Amino acid sequence: MTQSFQKVRALTGMKDVLPDTSAQWEALEDIVRDWLSAYGYRNMRTPVLEQTRLFTRGIGEVTDIVEKEMYTFTDALNNEQLTLRPEFTAGMVRATIEHNILYDRPQRVYAMGPVFRHEKPQRGRYRQFHQIDVEALGFAGPDVDAELIVMQARLWKMLGLNDIRLEMNSLGHADERAAHRAALIEYLEQHKDVMDAEAQRRMYSNPLRVLDTKNPAMQEMANNAPRLFDFLGTESLAHFDGVCMRLADAGIEYRLNTRLVRGLDYYNLTVFEWVTDRLGAQGTVCGGGRYDGLIELLGGKPAPAVGFAIGVERLLDLCSQSGEQVSPPECQVYMIHQAPEAQRLAAQLAESLRDAGLRVIVHAGSAGFKSQFKRADASGATVAVILGADELASQTASVKWLREQGEEQPQQETIALDRLVTELKLKV
Ligand code: ATP
Ligand code: MG
Repeated sequence: MTQSFQKVRALTGMKDVLPDTSAQWEALEDIVRDWLSAYGYRNMRTPVLEQTRLFTRGIGEVTDIVEKEMYTFTDALNNEQLTLRPEFTAGMVRATIEHNILYDRPQRVYAMGPVFRHEKPQRGRYRQFHQIDVEALGFAGPDVDAELIVMQARLWKMLGLNDIRLEMNSLGHADERAAHRAALIEYLEQHKDVMDAEAQRRMYSNPLRVLDTKNPAMQEMANNAPRLFDFLGTESLAHFDGVCMRLADAGIEYRLNTRLVRGLDYYNLTVFEWVTDRLGAQGTVCGGGRYDGLIELLGGKPAPAVGFAIGVERLLDLCSQSGEQVSPPECQVYMIHQAPEAQRLAAQLAESLRDAGLRVIVHAGSAGFKSQFKRADASGATVAVILGADELASQTASVKWLREQGEEQPQQETIALDRLVTELKLKV
């Protein structure tokens, strides 16, 4: 007797994409690839698993991600601390340094794929989710910051989305952040009574993040705190103006959100997010900014960089609200067979039809005509090709149209086998 096996389920917060919805994913990926290549971005693929210290260093010790969201484990075989990537940037920068690809020119690169964060699952927040990640490495000027934002606006347009708005801020340079930080800590010390435990814990290690709080009780305190934007010097302001000027050229509106700091530690100067009200609490679809210090921080020769990441699940959620989703047919031609030799002939004919570029399914196994026909219909095929004893005897196939074909198309016709490929290629 075999022992009963307790069913295995997918992990909490990790979703299966089933065939009926995967078409949406593939359609988006196709659009995204065209969109990226229109701006000269090239694909880069880095491993899902990296050494933990890449992320603790690259993302920052006192961030949500590093403090509580990483999937980290010890590889028992060589006692190494490893982490499933919680974002792309650190790995992309690691690869850039390792292969020295910035040595003669800057690089425009992108990646798409899963990232992992141990968060509380809810709509728009999963433990395995997907990002489209875009990085412009080795570029210093506001022109590239603006190019990225203009590029994002183009993608929303390509996808027919118009309910997303842009929020911008500047985090300035290190000395400006240091001056602001001192003023902010002083302010926070005076308002400890309204701060929650997490905020109190972070007020010295990462005071800027305290302002990013979602706690309603802390909003007023955060609103009245000293603004980093007021500490920016002429150079930082000029960079910010340079971006805004170019956004105006492109007709892109934005709101200055002086509390926007982003979840990762490495940003400076321009930061931005695209948000929508249509996704409930998880309204940020895309976020990014400049991170001029990261390449050096991770051991590379100093080089500026700017990038962003889009949350694919949130983007698809938004897309599915703005249009009806129809899953595409499995095939164009479904082959039905009803005689001993007919199945082998069907398989051979199917190969010839595929040579001609058609998408074909041959009914597997044997079954009654009616049940094969049902499958043909469910497959979404345009035509069913029927091979029975009569057809074999006369070296013909019966071709039945399964979808509306307009006036002139017959519902069913008989086609000689040696004409089948030519005729179907023309008509399907
Ligand atoms: P949030 O404030 O929503 O936690 P974040 O600042 O942590 O976002 P980023 O690190 O900037 O997010 O990641 C870029 C994008 O990835 C986000 O704008 C969002 O669209 C998406 N994203 C982030 N976390 C998740 C998640 N757990 N599940 C699904 N998508 C996510
Ligand atoms: Mg987060």
